[in-house]
Amino acid sequence: MKIIISEFMEEAEVDRLRQSFDVTYDATLVDDSKKLQSLLADADALIVRNRTQVTSELLQHAPALKALGRLGVGLDNIDLTACEQRGVKVLPAVGANAQAVAEYVITAMMLLVRGGFMASSAIGEGAWPRAALSNGGEIAGKVMGLVGFGGIGQLTAKLAQGLGMQVIAYDPAIDQTDTVWNSTNVEPRTLEALVSESDVISLHVPLLPSTNNMFDAALIGQMKPSAVLINTARGGIVNEAALANALKAKKIYGAALDVFVTEPLGNQSPLAGIPNLLLTPHIAGLTVESNQRVSKVTADRVADCLLKQ
Ligand code: NAD
Repeated sequence: MKIIISEFMEEAEVDRLRQSFDVTYDATLVDDSKKLQSLLADADALIVRNRTQVTSELLQHAPALKALGRLGVGLDNIDLTACEQRGVKVLPAVGANAQAVAEYVITAMMLLVRGGFMASSAIGEGAWPRAALSNGGEIAGKVMGLVGFGGIGQLTAKLAQGLGMQVIAYDPAIDQTDTVWNSTNVEPRTLEALVSESDVISLHVPLLPSTNNMFDAALIGQMKPSAVLINTARGGIVNEAALANALKAKKIYGAALDVFVTEPLGNQSPLAGIPNLLLTPHIAGLTVESNQRVSKVTADRVADCLLKQ
């Protein structure tokens, strides 16, 4: 049986798949749609990350496809309806990069709230901005608001509680009576209540019509002026121009973005040169350890699926 891998995967796991399958691994396939389409003609499985767009049109080039491995969890690059109609099983690496994302959130939060770490070059050259950097905040006792309380949201809650934070969450799919609230010691809130109560807001929702542009100027305007916003979920959930305006006008204290509407950002981005804004290139889920876990879980799931056919 034939497997095509169109984006980066750990070599050790690719080699493990090669022991049982005919594997074509080429991380540049994501940028060569013609070659990918032709390789898919007799493929049984395709493995992607978040860049390969698995559209209904691409699936038409893959008539024998049975399994679609996703090296990660967000499924917004995959036409799930088309996969279902064609009987293609979608296999995300659920949970495998949650620790990496949750640790990223805590790191970004601490950097932003303490605010004393951005002057290393100046200090090395003799500056001594002690007065300017003496007013950082502490984490303990602050309120963390999680928008989306699934796998990553729940792990982030645990780490934040370990630092002495109170954690609240908004997730309309989880009933107020669900035992998860008691077992995690997290209190449910409406979105509006969460936004106005939180000192740190972290987003952990998929990109859907209901979450697209969720943090627009109106909702950002309801945040505390001292609060920070962290988006590791997907670009588009936060309105980038509205966030840039709020930071420039000091309507909120700071923000960290790992995901963007367009990746990489183009030279017209409203996010360029904005104060108190940390930007990273979609790496919240990527660590040495999580890359290994994600590749292993994906290889196992795809192999299981094909061997059960
Ligand atoms: P999950 O499916 O376990 O949890 C998502 C939660 O969001 C669910 O509980 C769901 O009920 C909730 N939700 C859905 N719509 C909502 C809405 N409108 N309002 C509030 N809550 C809503 O997913 P997860 O594993 O926690 O991952 C969350 C997202 O993080 C993924 O969809 C992915 O896009 C993103 N992610 C990013 C990276 C990265 O590297 N930046 C890595 C992993 C995941």
